[in-house]
Amino acid sequence: MKKEQDKMEKIISLAKRRGFVFPSSEIYGGYSAIYDYGSYGVELANNIKVAWWKATVQLREDIVGLDSAIFMHPKTWEASGHVGGFSDPLAECKNCNSRLRVDHLLEDIGVLADEKMSEEEINKLFDENKNKIKCPKCGKQEFSEAKKFNLLVKSNLGNFTSDWEKDPAYLRGETCQGIYLNYKNVVDTARVKIPFGIAQIGKAFRNEITARQFIFRTREFEQMEMQYFTHPDKEMEEYEKLRQARWQYYLDLGIKEENLKWHKHENLVFYAKEAYDIEYNYPFGFKELEGVHARGNYDLSQHAKFSGQKLEYSDTATNEKYVPHIIESSVGVGRTMLAVLTDAYTEEKLEDDDIRIVMKFPKKLAPVKVAVFPLMKNKENLVVKAKEIYNDLKQEYMCEFDDNGNVGKRYRRQDEIGTPYCITVDFDTIEKDNTVTVRDRDTMEQERVKIEELKNYLEDKLK
Ligand SMILES: [Zn+2]
Repeated sequence: MKKEQDKMEKIISLAKRRGFVFPSSEIYGGYSAIYDYGSYGVELANNIKVAWWKATVQLREDIVGLDSAIFMHPKTWEASGHVGGFSDPLAECKNCNSRLRVDHLLEDIGVLADEKMSEEEINKLFDENKNKIKCPKCGKQEFSEAKKFNLLVKSNLGNFTSDWEKDPAYLRGETCQGIYLNYKNVVDTARVKIPFGIAQIGKAFRNEITARQFIFRTREFEQMEMQYFTHPDKEMEEYEKLRQARWQYYLDLGIKEENLKWHKHENLVFYAKEAYDIEYNYPFGFKELEGVHARGNYDLSQHAKFSGQKLEYSDTATNEKYVPHIIESSVGVGRTMLAVLTDAYTEEKLEDDDIRIVMKFPKKLAPVKVAVFPLMKNKENLVVKAKEIYNDLKQEYMCEFDDNGNVGKRYRRQDEIGTPYCITVDFDTIEKDNTVTVRDRDTMEQERVKIEELKNYLEDKLK
């Protein structure tokens, strides 16, 4: 356990030190469960989103994209069940007054609880296991009853009275509702035929009580969701295909397969057909990275009922009309990022007993692809040549120019941000053969490459 905590702390520390992730509003003492991405974090997050979009939309002729707004008609959240049922079970420690997620406490001792359980069901499980549960803060065993607390974040958008809380506009708790609301628009405009999918990347908000584990669970977060509309008879067949595709996606992304596993949900909500999560082996253990769920026709039926609109599909070939069933894949950018950071974090013992910290990101996810150095910063001809190479390569890749300190220090810095290739311009470049040193992040091996061949060389390596 100690070792795992160490790894988490090391990742958090590197993420801060190297500008991947900052706690929000740090100058004001932080703002709970909210994080900001720094200069390398935003590159990493963007690369993750590009990879997801490419696999989900660009390479699929049956899936189209969407970008719906964060705000939706408040009825959306009544129809979806979020106003009535989207809640976490909370208890208070009677000793230290910490507010605790009861489902998490149960999970920690191996008792499967579900946020969809009713207050009574959760309290029954809680009572049966109270003697095994200790407050994570103070270690005492006195708790209040579990109460369910709604997770939707409210706002006064469009309401200019003082009692807007009675009739709030919600910040979306998940992006997929925007997909359901646009189902009809997409069918009418995108020339899609069932089965087809709609994909979206966007922010969502949840009033999480306990923020746990860094960027794993945050109150503001970004989702990448795909909803796939099928014929009722084909739902499970398509579901199996989607599960395979999503597993393959993580392998293609460069995640180590031994760090991934399937987790099957035992307590399904009444409308769900089947639900699996892809779990990742985070420093705190295997936890949900992505949900792949078969949801029946619940979502469209609910919105049809609440809106009074027909959300059917007319099959022109068979003249059949039906409400499509939906299978979904849903993953967070932050959770993917934490998985990628965990997968990449490597400590290596060097010959001189020094420890090298290197982020072995898959090359396509690396925030910076190439760093260019002049061997010395006070030799003008080296600097001019290095700048020339940098200006040329930055047209193709996210590049960095660095002339600070010695080359060894620059390598260490680039290793910690996971830059796959470092190029050094030295005296041989200028005086002898117009070649540069290219150093490989993972092997630390160096080779001389002719400047005119650099672009081809890198294109080949970074493919
Ligand atoms: Zn306590």
